[in-house]
Amino acid sequence: MRILYSVGFLILGLLFGSFYNVVGFRLPQKKSIIKPRSSCSKCSHILKWYELIPVMSFIFQKGKCRHCHKSISLFYPFTELMTGILFMVSYYIFGFNPNLLISLFIVSFLIIVIVSDLNYMIIPDEITLLFSILVIIVKFILLDFNTGLFSLLSGVIMFTIMYLIMLIGNLIFKKETLGGGDIKLMFFIGLTLHPILAILTIFIGSIIALPVAIYLQVKKNEKMIPFGPFLLLGNAFIFLTQLDLNTIKLLLTK
Ligand SMILES: [Zn+2]
Repeated sequence: MRILYSVGFLILGLLFGSFYNVVGFRLPQKKSIIKPRSSCSKCSHILKWYELIPVMSFIFQKGKCRHCHKSISLFYPFTELMTGILFMVSYYIFGFNPNLLISLFIVSFLIIVIVSDLNYMIIPDEITLLFSILVIIVKFILLDFNTGLFSLLSGVIMFTIMYLIMLIGNLIFKKETLGGGDIKLMFFIGLTLHPILAILTIFIGSIIALPVAIYLQVKKNEKMIPFGPFLLLGNAFIFLTQLDLNTIKLLLTK
């Protein structure tokens, strides 16, 4: 059964991943996420249902639009596959447990932010709000009241810390160092993790972001890189590895 459910979550993730591409591309442009149907970005040919099947359609069409034969960006199958694999891993680690839902919310938020923040440098407020509310509901209702209260407090603490980091950064560098989207994002991360682990996500996010930032600076002379995807990668990493405070204490005392 476990294998069957794993495959189920993989397919579910592929389908959601395809939808998250639409959300991540359209919301920052204030376009509807339902209408019009998806079309080829080069020739605007409306895609048929079988051209919308994640990853498979890309493989069968050899990465080209059936209408204008121009190449389809590898970005789409990549984010779809990433959603599918992370959905499957989430099920594999947590099984049917309230934490599975929180894990799926983190992964979903991560994918939408990868699409929107990398392409437009925007983390849509609606999305941050939606996933924050979903996590709060799971914590208060499926877990218990005290867990919910602690998680809310942790979110507020992280929002405050991130806000202070921004103020200090602005003073030192005399320019905007952190976007408002990143600060609100930290509220969400605080909801999902203990504040100490949430602070750790800032470090892990920075460690993953550093080589990417250096590469973009050298290769493309890109000065600003979006931080949101890296913060959420750190969040997903800590949540999925189930790193807890005791493990950190053990690692530090060894
Ligand atoms: Zn086309």
